[in-house]
Amino acid sequence: MAVEEKYEIVVGLEVHVQLNTKTKIFAADEADFGAAPNTHISPITLGLPGVLPRLNEAVVAKAIKLGLALQCTINKENRFARKNYFYADLPKGYQISQDQLPICEHGFVEIQLPNERKKIALTRIHMEEDAGKNNHELDPNFSLIDLNRAGVPLLEIVSEPDIRSSDEAFAYVTELRKLVRYLDICDGNMEEGSMRCDANVSVRLKGEKSYRNRVEVKNMNSIRNVKRAIDVEVQRQIDIYENGGTIEQETRSFNQADGTSFSLRTKENAHDYRYFPEPDLPAVSISDEMLNEVKASMPALPNELQRLFENEYKLSEYDARLLTEEKSTADFFLQLSDHTKNYKSASNWINNEIKSYLNENNLALNELNIEPKQIAEIIQLCDDDIISSSNAKLIFKAMMDGNIASAIAIAETMNLIQTSDADEMTSWIESVLQKFPDKVKEYQKGKKGNINLFLGEIMKLSRGTADPKKVKVMLEEKLK
Ligand code: MN
Repeated sequence: MAVEEKYEIVVGLEVHVQLNTKTKIFAADEADFGAAPNTHISPITLGLPGVLPRLNEAVVAKAIKLGLALQCTINKENRFARKNYFYADLPKGYQISQDQLPICEHGFVEIQLPNERKKIALTRIHMEEDAGKNNHELDPNFSLIDLNRAGVPLLEIVSEPDIRSSDEAFAYVTELRKLVRYLDICDGNMEEGSMRCDANVSVRLKGEKSYRNRVEVKNMNSIRNVKRAIDVEVQRQIDIYENGGTIEQETRSFNQADGTSFSLRTKENAHDYRYFPEPDLPAVSISDEMLNEVKASMPALPNELQRLFENEYKLSEYDARLLTEEKSTADFFLQLSDHTKNYKSASNWINNEIKSYLNENNLALNELNIEPKQIAEIIQLCDDDIISSSNAKLIFKAMMDGNIASAIAIAETMNLIQTSDADEMTSWIESVLQKFPDKVKEYQKGKKGNINLFLGEIMKLSRGTADPKKVKVMLEEKLK
């Protein structure tokens, strides 16, 4: 048995998502990203003496939204706590977070694996403030600090150690990112740091009941790097155990450049955060009214839409998954389905033609200059055999290039209307057969596959307007 097969991987993830509120969690400073350094720093953000934090209600609403989407228990009474540690980017010397009584508990993230769906249980979701940002590159002699980010609201989502492979971790973070985007609470951009992930990793022998010491790995800036960092850490731990060593609890930083990690701190110098209830803030009390308001504002979630597309619209699991990857795509499909009953074709148009156009032109769906109704018109023309599917793409392209006429009008001006006019088709057939006398002889001697060559040439000659079924019948007749 390979060494890797002896062991079971145990991973729990802590994901921080930066909420897209207008202002910070405890101050009226703007919370958006990209302003000149240290311009969004009121006395509250700086933690000056005598100031008091005041909770931004939008943060609570967004936390409830995520909690509901993940089937969590919402704690209608919850509380902030001080997490004490000393670091240059933390103006107050403590972070206002939640400890004993977080806003959400339990719940799960349902992930899609190759052959099954699996529920990863959650421990909790809590609200907290972000710290500032150190910059070690701008100045050769000093580290600089930008406190614009200090006080920006975060949700920390803590999973149970239910994840059993780096692929499951990948699926978990992917699912969470999709969800926060659907809920419009965070842009989910890991590269820019608005979503950050730490992994608690341990391994144990298969069948072993208790968990072994775990190592926390930090600083992965993409979902792919979360997977890589876990693979690297698992291998490191297995190698140590196989050489008779032991793993001590520690925190390590992942280096994406070379795929290694280095120790940040071990158990001996681990932080003792000395949590205590935040005396400057009252307990958070969520009214039934607020809870109901948030419930009413919930959009359809990707899993619900996936089921709807499979069950009601009879799409394949694969098509439904592609359509629900982003909310804008699912919404476009729903709008399109108001105008056509050919759902399979609607799904194909979105997943193929439209998506590749968006990719090629680096556009988002909401920047697309076309209404779902126009796509429905094209689909109808194909279904009625008025245009061929390849000419349908030409009509789409004309629309993208700014032609605002109806699909049928474009088809007419561009001469794309399919014809079953016998004289016209006979003349196309004859000119193609005259062009390939050798191939005709081969066909008549039994090389029946040549018919596809003739058909292709006829379609080309007719610029896609020859009715393919009728022309084939006529061609076969002619070749006898
Ligand atoms: Mn945290």
